[in-house]
Amino acid sequence: MSKENINIVQQFASDNYSGICPEALSAMQDANFGHASSYGDDAWTGRAANAFRQLFETDCEVFFVFNGTAANSLALASLCQSYHGVICADSAHVETDECGAPEFFSNGSKLLVAHSADGKLTPDSIHELATKRQDIHYPKPRVVTMTQPTETGRVYTTEEVQAISAACKAHGLSLHMDGARFANACAKLEQSPAELTWRSGVDVLCFGGTKNGMAVGEAVIFFDRKLAADFDYRCKQAGQLASKMRFLTAPWVGLLESGAWLTNAAHANRCAAYFAEQIATIPGVTIVSAVDANAVFVHASEGILEPLQKRGWKFYTFIGGAARFMFSWDADLARIDELVRDLQECALSAKDALV
Ligand SMILES: *Cc1c(COP(=O)(O)O)cnc(C)c1O
Repeated sequence: MSKENINIVQQFASDNYSGICPEALSAMQDANFGHASSYGDDAWTGRAANAFRQLFETDCEVFFVFNGTAANSLALASLCQSYHGVICADSAHVETDECGAPEFFSNGSKLLVAHSADGKLTPDSIHELATKRQDIHYPKPRVVTMTQPTETGRVYTTEEVQAISAACKAHGLSLHMDGARFANACAKLEQSPAELTWRSGVDVLCFGGTKNGMAVGEAVIFFDRKLAADFDYRCKQAGQLASKMRFLTAPWVGLLESGAWLTNAAHANRCAAYFAEQIATIPGVTIVSAVDANAVFVHASEGILEPLQKRGWKFYTFIGGAARFMFSWDADLARIDELVRDLQECALSAKDALV
């Protein structure tokens, strides 16, 4: 069977359907010459950590793990005791898609969930949960975790991050950012990563590599070095310490030193905006929320979505109550046009069926 036959044609169900971008892959190939010390004691890992320090303009502590669930869970565990509470939005990945890992790795810290229509936390929702109960019977709020961009593709402005940070400070809470698509937020806001994180009060960032063009890997970045105490042991215990670490870190060198981390994200965002523009006037099709990053959520009847699936298009409907289309670093405009055309045709025949 040829390679072409094994892989499916481009789909927009998730940005993690994509492959590895050239910059990450070639760095991985470079890392494959000869031998290197194991468990992170190698030049690639040092270089990747330094690239993050340069990008964030600060002497942060950087750790490398395999995926976002581990990054979030271990980061949150390092900010909490087992009797603490973690405030998050009800649609947060930590709440809906991590199989209880944050609770597991923190030995029982409870997620305190704020209802949010667009996936964003607000100072008010944090205040409400932080002051809801002050008695000994309720877990003590200790951390806020925000997703940037949110699971529904919304980007917090820097001012919004700062307002959340102020609410955290008022209640003695640490601020964690799930940045599985952090690069897409940077591309949208055109502000520096430093501005969007530690200068606005973020203590710990999980920076996603997988959806940004790597095969695998997320970075956990502690802006407050004290919070990183023993984090290396946490990673090891959780099975997240790669012995051939250079293959987890060289791709970061490729992404960060070339600037591909940002151009990849900007391309993905542009493709989402393009798709949204192309489908805006299709009857029976509504774009559910503002397209800030690389996701487009589409509301349409089953009479439209089912035939679209029958035509071979893959998309999820369990996130945000609508059909989600997600654009990756290599999204192909011609393929997006095919999707637009099929959506148009499905919408038209659904409309004809009604009359
Ligand atoms: C993809 C994603 C993650 C990471 O998920 P893994 O499958 O564990 O790598 C974390 N947070 C958000 C918001 C995501 O979309």
